[in-house]
Amino acid sequence: MPRTRQHNVTAAQWSANGAALQPQDLTQPGNQIFASNVFSAAVQRQRLPKHVFKALQKTIERGEPLDTSLADAVAVAMKDWAMERGATHYTHWFQPLTGSTAEKHDSFYAPVGDGTAIAEFSGRELIQGEPDASSFPTGGIRATFEARGYTAWDPTSPAFILENPNGALLCIPTAFTSWTGEALDHKIPLLRSMDALSRTAIKALRLLGDDQARRVFTTVGPEQEYFLIDEQYYFERPDLVTTGRTLFGAKPPKGHELDDHYFGSIPERILACMLETERELVKLGVPVKTRHNEVAPNQYEIAPIFENSNVGSDHQQLTMQIMQNTARRYKLVCLLHEKPFAGVNGSGKHNNWSMGTDTGVNLLEPGETPHENLQFLFFCAAVIQAVNTHQQLLRASIASPGQDHRLGANEAPPAIISIFLGTELEAVFDAIEQGRAQESKPGSFLGLGTPVLPPLPLHGGDRNRTSPFAFTGNKFEFRALGSSMSLALPNTVLNTIVAEAIDELAEKLEGALQGSDGLEKALMQVVKDSWRANKRVVFGGDNYSAEWHEQAAERGLANLRSTPDALPWLVEKRTVALFEKYQVLSERELHARHEVFTEQYAVKINIEAETAASIARTQILPAALRQLQLVRSAGTEQLVAELEPVIEELHAALTALEDANLAENQQDSTPAQWAAYMRDVVIPTMEKLRGVADRLERLVADDLWPLPKYSEMLFIK
Ligand code: ADP
Ligand code: MG
Repeated sequence: MPRTRQHNVTAAQWSANGAALQPQDLTQPGNQIFASNVFSAAVQRQRLPKHVFKALQKTIERGEPLDTSLADAVAVAMKDWAMERGATHYTHWFQPLTGSTAEKHDSFYAPVGDGTAIAEFSGRELIQGEPDASSFPTGGIRATFEARGYTAWDPTSPAFILENPNGALLCIPTAFTSWTGEALDHKIPLLRSMDALSRTAIKALRLLGDDQARRVFTTVGPEQEYFLIDEQYYFERPDLVTTGRTLFGAKPPKGHELDDHYFGSIPERILACMLETERELVKLGVPVKTRHNEVAPNQYEIAPIFENSNVGSDHQQLTMQIMQNTARRYKLVCLLHEKPFAGVNGSGKHNNWSMGTDTGVNLLEPGETPHENLQFLFFCAAVIQAVNTHQQLLRASIASPGQDHRLGANEAPPAIISIFLGTELEAVFDAIEQGRAQESKPGSFLGLGTPVLPPLPLHGGDRNRTSPFAFTGNKFEFRALGSSMSLALPNTVLNTIVAEAIDELAEKLEGALQGSDGLEKALMQVVKDSWRANKRVVFGGDNYSAEWHEQAAERGLANLRSTPDALPWLVEKRTVALFEKYQVLSERELHARHEVFTEQYAVKINIEAETAASIARTQILPAALRQLQLVRSAGTEQLVAELEPVIEELHAALTALEDANLAENQQDSTPAQWAAYMRDVVIPTMEKLRGVADRLERLVADDLWPLPKYSEMLFIK
C-alpha cells in the first residue's frame, strides 16, 4: 500500500480505549466538578478568616484596592488548598504581548538547613513576582539590560490548578509591568479600561436616575472556532507545525459546498475529545455551554456563558490551552490559526459584549418599561457613536497576519467596520431622529408618548452573519476577531471607546437637563443628535457585496485591508488622546504595542516564507524530480513535456522567494517599512510559489507526494 494510504487507514482507526472517561452519575454530589480546581469565592469563604474574606470580596466586587497586609492570610489558605490537590509548585500566570500566556514555576518547598524542606508561600510571593523578563516583547519600554519586570497578583481573577499526569500547578493570574509601572501585558490595560467604563457609566446612570449601582462591569462571551485534524497529518506537515497553517495544498474535490458538516452530528472521536476538553474546563470554572460543527469540514465551535471581561478573557486563554492539550490525548491536533487551509473557511472568534451593573442590570437589555427603554437607547447610542468614531482603532485591535486571510474574503466580516442593528431597532432610531418618537399611537411601538420599544427578537431570524458588529438582542457581537487571538486588546479598545462615548453623551445629557425639560425629552434630544452624527456606521445589508464596499467608501468608512494598514491607528493622535484621557494606555505604552505588533507581523511572514521555501526545495522539488524520472523512464515525450516546464517554474518561483526574503533586504528598514515590504513583496512571491506547487500536486504520483493532502487532512477522522 502506498505510504499516504497506510496513514489514512491508521488515522481512521481510532477507537475509545481503556482511558475513556465513562459517563458518571451526576446526581451524586461528589461528581459535581464545576470549579473544583478553582480557589473560588466559595472556597475562600470556607478557608479565609472572615474579615479577610470580606475585604477580598470588596476588591473583587467594587474594584477597591486590597489591603496588602491581608495577603499573608490569603497565601497560606491558597497554598494549603493547592497542596491538598497535589500542587508542588506555583506560578504567576501572565499574558505578555506575545498573545499567549506565560508561566515560571516555583516550588513551594525550600530547604531549612537540617537536611529537610518545608512548604512555604508568603503574602509577598503571592502579591509580587519577578520573572526574568528580558525576553518578552516590550517595544522598547524596557531595555534588555534592565531585565526587571514584575508580576502583580490580580485578585479579581481567581487562582486555579492546572493538572498534569505527574503533578499539579497552582496558577495565580497576574498583571505584568515594568519597574516603572508600565504595562507589559494585555491584562493591565483591560483592567484599566473596565475601570474607565465603570466610572463613566455610573456617572451616566446617576443622571438617568439610578442611585443604586456602584459599579458597571463589561461582560464577554466568546464563541471560539477551531479545527481538529489527525495528529499524524499534522506532524507530516512542517508548515502546520511551524506556522500553524498549510502553505501548500491543492483544493480538494469536495469542500464545504454541500454544507453537510455545519451543525451535523459530531463524530464519536471528536465528541469524546470535546467531552474531555469541557470536563477539564469545567474543573477550571470555565462555564462552557455550547458545542457544534462549523461550516468547514473538521471545523468546530465551543462557547461559554459570558463573564466579566477580565475573567472571561483569562478563561478564553485557558480554553485555547486546554483545547490544544486535550486534543493530543485523542491523537488529534487542535488548529487555532485563522486560516489553516486556503480556500476553506477560516476560524474566527465572536466576541459577545455587554455592560452590566453590580445590581444585575444589563445596560444593553431593551427592557419592557419606558424607563428601561430610555436607558437602553442611551447606552446603545453610545456604542454606535464609539464604533463610528473609532472604527479604525477597532479594526487595528483585531489585526494579525492570520486575519489578513479572512477579513474581506467572503467568509468573514469585511475589513470595513459597520454595525448591524436589525430592522426594528434601526426603525426606532430613525423615528427618534424624525421626531416621531413622541407620537401617541396606541398599539404602535412608540405609543404613549414614550419610546417603548417593540419586543426586539432575541433569537429571531433577523440575523446578519456578514456583519462585523451586530446587535443580538441584549448585547453586541463583535464578530471579526481571529480564532487564535487573545480577547484582551479588542475588549480594551471596546471598553475605552464606549467609555468615552458614554462620557460625551452624559455631558450633553447633563446640559440638556439644565433646561429642565425632563429626563425623557433631554435624553431623546441627545440620542437624536448622536444618531444623526453616527448613523453612517449602521448597515443592515450584505457586508460581503461589492456594492457595500462602494457605499462604505461613499459614507467615508475606513477599509483597512491589511495589518500594516491597520496598526498605525494604535498610535494616531486621536487614539493617544483617548487612551491617555481614560488612563488606559500612555503614549509610550501605545507606541510599544504598535512596534511589537508590527514586528510580529513581519517576523511571522518571514517565518512562513522561510518554511515555504524550505518545503519547496527539500520536499516538493525532489518529489517532482522523481516524477520526472518516472515519466522519462516510461519514454512518453508528451508527459515529459507536460511536467518539465512546471518544474522549471517551481524552481524559478522558489529562488525568487528565497531572494525576496533575504535579511539583507531589510537592514535599514523601520518595523513599518519591513512589514509593508513583507506584505507587498514577500507574500505575493510566496503565493506564486504555492500556485506552482499546487499544480504539481496534481501531476506527481500520489505515493511520491511528500505532504498529506487537503482531502486527507480535512475528511479523515
Ligand atoms: P446567539 O449567538 O444565538 O445570540 P447566545 O444568546 O447563546 O447565542 O449567546 C452567544 C454568546 O453570547 C454566548 O457565549 C453567551 O455567553 C454570550 N452572551 C450572552 N449574553 C451576554 C452578555 N450580556 N454579555 C456578553 N456576552 C453575552
Ligand atoms: Mg453568535
